[in-house]
Amino acid sequence: MRDPIINVKNHCPMTPRLPKAGETIHGSKFFIGFGGKGANQCIQAARLGAKTAMVCKVGQDSFGNDYKENFRKNNVSTDFVAQTEAAATGAASIIVNSEGQNAIVIVSGANLLLDSDDLAKAAAAIGAAKVMVCQLEILPDISLEALKVARARGVKTIFNPAPAIASLDPQFFSYSDIFCCNETEAEILSGVPVGGSADAGKAGLVLLGRGCRTVIVTLGGEGCVIVSQEEPTPRHIPSRKVTAVDTTGAGDSFVGALAFYIAHHPHLNMEEMVKRSNYIASVSVQAAGTQASYPSRKDLPQDLF
Ligand code: ADP
Repeated sequence: MRDPIINVKNHCPMTPRLPKAGETIHGSKFFIGFGGKGANQCIQAARLGAKTAMVCKVGQDSFGNDYKENFRKNNVSTDFVAQTEAAATGAASIIVNSEGQNAIVIVSGANLLLDSDDLAKAAAAIGAAKVMVCQLEILPDISLEALKVARARGVKTIFNPAPAIASLDPQFFSYSDIFCCNETEAEILSGVPVGGSADAGKAGLVLLGRGCRTVIVTLGGEGCVIVSQEEPTPRHIPSRKVTAVDTTGAGDSFVGALAFYIAHHPHLNMEEMVKRSNYIASVSVQAAGTQASYPSRKDLPQDLF
């Protein structure tokens, strides 16, 4: 999987309440975790056994160094992780209060400096991949260019339009083999209010009509809905019932798992791939953290492989 998306490092203090402007308050716990949708997806695919590489840019700083080290520890190639002096590693500060509400500041930093030259360096590797996944945490034009590079070389594309932008270039639809979004993203992009599987099917059909080959709308604990050019009747694929502890990053676990199945089990039909991806994402919600909660192959039932 070649994955042109980046690195947001999450700094997360926990406080009794969110501070007001100008105020200093004490918090109870502080931790730093690795994130970024692309990185999460890449690491989930790698933990299932996929050979993965990340295409992204980080700063020439300690966060950038740690970020690369985290990929290495997770068997993700860093051959296309560029480091720049021109910006800091992208980061998100997330303050969480005792009610679980949060306030988040994202600084994209080096993410926005990933450019066509960086993509050109990765083009041969993208061409040799079975699947390329991209999202919207870098400049949308660069994501679109990556989708075109992959399509021109016959590589399957998964596009995860997150964070969603209402005015998405229509070419994103036609260059996506699989357009995989959550309910909120489906609603923003299609204009159809999504409050369950029937609505997700309607939104999926709107997105399919814009030129994607397959649309998957994920529905949290309800699983997901698929529509495709071959089978345009929406199909709801439920997830199993589990006790969710922390659903952060479930969508990335799902996308990473789907990329793994497309690359390693291309003979499975889409419904079966999605069923298995639901299962893997349902494991991730049963533990705290994002990447920390993603299961590895050895921890999963072997009939998933
Ligand atoms: P996102 O994290 O992008 O908002 P979702 O919340 O839709 O994505 O979750 C993605 C996938 O994770 C779902 O399709 C499902 O497979 C799994 N999932 C999420 N929440 C739960 C849950 N509470 N129970 C079981 N599976 C879940």
